[in-house]
Amino acid sequence: MYNSFMIKYGEIGIKGDNRHLFEDALAKRIRTLLKRIDGEFEVTKIRGRIYVNCGGDWNYDETIDVLRHVFGVVGICPVVIYEKDGVEKMKADMIQYVREEHPNCTQTFKVKARRVDKEFPLTSMEVAAELGEAILENFPDMKVDVHDPEILFDVEIRDEVYIYSKVIPGPGGMPIGTAGRAMLLLSGGIDSPVAGWMVAKRGVTIDATYFHAPPYTSERAKQKVVDLAKIVAKYTGPIRLHIVNFTDIQLYIYDQCPHEELTIIMRRYMMRIAEHFAKEEGDLGLITGESIGQVASQTMQSLRCTDAVCELPVYRPLIGFDKNDITAIAREIGTYDTSILPYEDCCTIFVAKHPVTKPIIEIIERNERKLNEKIDELVKEAIDTAEVVIAK
Ligand code: ATP
Ligand code: MG
Repeated sequence: MYNSFMIKYGEIGIKGDNRHLFEDALAKRIRTLLKRIDGEFEVTKIRGRIYVNCGGDWNYDETIDVLRHVFGVVGICPVVIYEKDGVEKMKADMIQYVREEHPNCTQTFKVKARRVDKEFPLTSMEVAAELGEAILENFPDMKVDVHDPEILFDVEIRDEVYIYSKVIPGPGGMPIGTAGRAMLLLSGGIDSPVAGWMVAKRGVTIDATYFHAPPYTSERAKQKVVDLAKIVAKYTGPIRLHIVNFTDIQLYIYDQCPHEELTIIMRRYMMRIAEHFAKEEGDLGLITGESIGQVASQTMQSLRCTDAVCELPVYRPLIGFDKNDITAIAREIGTYDTSILPYEDCCTIFVAKHPVTKPIIEIIERNERKLNEKIDELVKEAIDTAEVVIAK
């Protein structure tokens, strides 16, 4: 029955002079993503609205699935387009529309009309009144409520007549590519994919780095991270995932440094290496899934210690979130089921029984000097042997 979608976008509609840039970016994202599925789609921007007209061999569910992954989309309204031929035909079309879309309808409603075609003989108010009356005559159980209707029928009179009344929620946010790029430290846990998703939602293009420690961590643990990157990439577009072999660095730290400082020193090396790739990619910041107090390495003191090795700003969008909040988002965006698969993480393998919770930066720096002999060489080796996978 449908042949078009009207895309609602909230925030990007109010960007003043930049408004058209954001609208163009959104239309472009939609076009790019729709190329991946069957059908012929025409994405048009008309007077502050974006329409997706569907033709060819297109499938409703598949199209909705694509549109629901586009940041910047607040709502997706399935539209039926009717030929324009006077008000009587419009009434008949409206009745058919109500019958198909809201069968056995007993709800309250309101008709809102917009006359874009100023040649049309009736004003918007007159059209709304005519169509409202037609609905009342044909559906005696429906009532008008102009203040808080259960169904709002939108009618737009253009070269054709557009009718819609349903809104499927989109993710909101800003279109990808409107806010620079950043490097996500992506592990196989619940938090980091959510953190990346949240920053990407503000329009940021995402790169990623993952540290593994073969043979202590398995190929399946690595595949899990690639799979998580792919899920996030459904929203963000292709992610360049750098996979770094961290084993020798971890073993060396384990040999040379106090065991209660292992995690914090390891985290500092992760940040240094991720920042190296970030600079190569032209990223403007690093992103982690940390939240205050979640584990020893996420106390305020520890976070300060990890920050100290970075020049780029470190974005931690989950900083004030409880685990429950994070888990709820993970479920919503579809990463949760993959995140909880039980594969080992390199952080948990060399973990100390009593890690420091209040590291003092000077002490950590002093103990890191015990790595002087070989660490530069090992870091270089890790960088040189890193593998890049494009997750999409
Ligand atoms: P997550 O659920 O994201 O793994 P976590 O609660 O397990 O987080 P940590 O293991 O302390 O927390 O890691 C904190 C952050 O450091 C992660 O959110 C992630 O951004 C980064 N990180 C941890 N381990 C790795 C790894 N192996 N590769 C890349 N980044 C990592
Ligand atoms: Mg983890």
